[in-house]
Amino acid sequence: MSRVDEIIRLFEARGDESYFGEPVSQKEHALQAAHHAERDGAPDALVVAALLHDLGHLLHGLGEDIAERGVDARHEEAGEAWLAEVYGPEVTEPIRLHVAAKRYLCAVDRGYREQLSPASQQSLELQGGAFRPEETREFERHPYHRGAVQLRLWDDLAKAPGMVVPGIEQYRPRLEALARGRGG
Ligand code: FE
Repeated sequence: MSRVDEIIRLFEARGDESYFGEPVSQKEHALQAAHHAERDGAPDALVVAALLHDLGHLLHGLGEDIAERGVDARHEEAGEAWLAEVYGPEVTEPIRLHVAAKRYLCAVDRGYREQLSPASQQSLELQGGAFRPEETREFERHPYHRGAVQLRLWDDLAKAPGMVVPGIEQYRPRLEALARGRGG
């Protein structure tokens, strides 16, 4: 089975689990994030990154209440390591940085933190809170930081119950093309 088939099967098998304290499933969340990226005219690599940004949640199989139990499962790193076997940094780096992007946005945008969902505010504390000034500057030096910030904003939007968006097969050609480019 190709890695792309594995990815799609993971969504089919486990994607109906709820997305941590939010009113959508993991699969709905992923598909909405990808849809927002597409609607904003993002390049294919960022659309794919938006689709796969929480794949680590599906991979590690921890329960849906991990934030409440005080565990930061480091899902962004688990997902990145698995995906790095298939995709290049233009996909994996925005994913790896998408939690850091939340801490960054909380530091640079006063209104951002207040509009986060309660579950997202709770996980922010586990993730280390808003960046300090030197962390903010370090983040801005990262070549993929802009993509990570965009991904973060699509992630935040992708929590709308019942929103009708294209299904996972819509993204298969891009999942395969970007993987092929890496010899996957
Ligand atoms: Fe997410």
